[in-house]
Amino acid sequence: MDRDWAEKNKEIQKLLSKEATFNEAVQKLIEFREELFQQITWIVEGYPDEAFYQMPFAGAKGYHSKTLAYSIWHIFRIEDIVAHEMIAEDEQILFRNAYLDATGSPIITTGNELEGEDIAGFSKKLNVKELYIYAKAVKESSDKILLQLQYKDLKRKFSEEIKQKLTESKCVSEDENAFWLIDYWCGKDIKGLIQMPFSRHWIMHIEAMRRIKNKLCMIARKGVDPVAICGLSCNHCFLGEWCGGCRTEYNTCSFATCSEGRICPNVKCCNEKNIDGCYECSEIETCEKGFYVPSNDGANAAKAQSLYIREHGKKEFLKIQTRLHEKYEFEKVQEILGQDYKEGLKILERE
Ligand code: SF4
Ligand code: SF4
Repeated sequence: MDRDWAEKNKEIQKLLSKEATFNEAVQKLIEFREELFQQITWIVEGYPDEAFYQMPFAGAKGYHSKTLAYSIWHIFRIEDIVAHEMIAEDEQILFRNAYLDATGSPIITTGNELEGEDIAGFSKKLNVKELYIYAKAVKESSDKILLQLQYKDLKRKFSEEIKQKLTESKCVSEDENAFWLIDYWCGKDIKGLIQMPFSRHWIMHIEAMRRIKNKLCMIARKGVDPVAICGLSCNHCFLGEWCGGCRTEYNTCSFATCSEGRICPNVKCCNEKNIDGCYECSEIETCEKGFYVPSNDGANAAKAQSLYIREHGKKEFLKIQTRLHEKYEFEKVQEILGQDYKEGLKILERE
C-alpha cells in the first residue's frame, strides 16, 4: 500500500477511536478522501475512452486485474449501498436524478460477480464522464453523512431488518463472489464501515487504478519516439508514469488536456506545418505558443533543448538528458537549464 496513504489512514483510524479527537478524524478523513478522489479526476480527465475498458493485468490476482471504469463503478456502488441502505437509511444516489440511465450501466450491483471478459464488456458499456459525475455525487453525499455522525454512532450495529433490506434491494448479486458482502458489512459497526468501504477500500482500488494506468501508458509508449514535439524528453519526464507522451493517445500533458480538442498548441502547430517537432521550425526563438508561453517557467529550457536537437539530433539529446539526470538531482529540466534559452543551450553543449 502507498506508504503515505497507509500512514494517513492509520492516523485517521487512531483519531476516530477517541471521543476528543473524533471531529478532527472526520475532517481529516474527508480531506484524505478528497486527495484520493483527485487521482480519479486526473485519470478521467487525462485518458482516452479506450483506457477505461483495457485490462492490462487480466488474469492477475488482485484489484489491478480489473479495468479503470469497473474500479470507479465498484468503489462508488459499494459506498452508495452502504452509506444509504445501511447508515442513512434513505434512497441510494444511483436511483436519484437518473444516474443509472446516464452511466449506461446494465447492472445495479457492486460488480463483484463479474469476471474476466465480462468486466471488459461491462466497462465498455459505461459512459465514463457520467460515471464520474455519479462517483462525485456519492462521495459528496457520503462526506455529508460522515459529518453528521457523532462519536456514539461508531458502535452502532445493523439489524436483521437491514440485512433483509440489502438482500431485497438486489444491489448485491446472489453470485457467491458477491453475496458474502451482505454478511461482511452487517458484521461491522459504523466504525468498521468507515474503514471499509469509506477509506481503505478506496486506497486499495485507487492504487490498483494507478497500476493499470501506468501499465497502459507504458504499453502506449512502447516503440514510440520519446522526444516530445516541444523538445522535452518523455523518457526523462517526472510525469512519465502518468503520460504516454504527445505522440500517443495517452497524452496527459496539461498543455494537451486543457486545450481545445485535447490537442496541445505545439502539436497542432507542428501538424499544420507538417513538421516532426518545434526543433524543425524557424520561428522557435520568438514563438510563444503552448509550452513556449512566457508564463511557463519551463519554456526556455524546452526551447534550449529543441535548439540542441536541431543541431545534434535526438539521439545525442537523449544521451545528454540521461547524463544530466545521472549527474544532478532534479525534477524539471529548467532547474538545470535556467530561464534563458541561449544560456540553456550553452549548458547542454558543455555536457
Ligand atoms: S507541451 Fe505539448 S508538445 Fe510539449 S510535451 Fe506537452 S503535449 Fe507534448
Ligand atoms: S510556431 Fe511555435 S509551436 Fe509552431 S512549430 Fe514553431 S515553435 Fe512550434
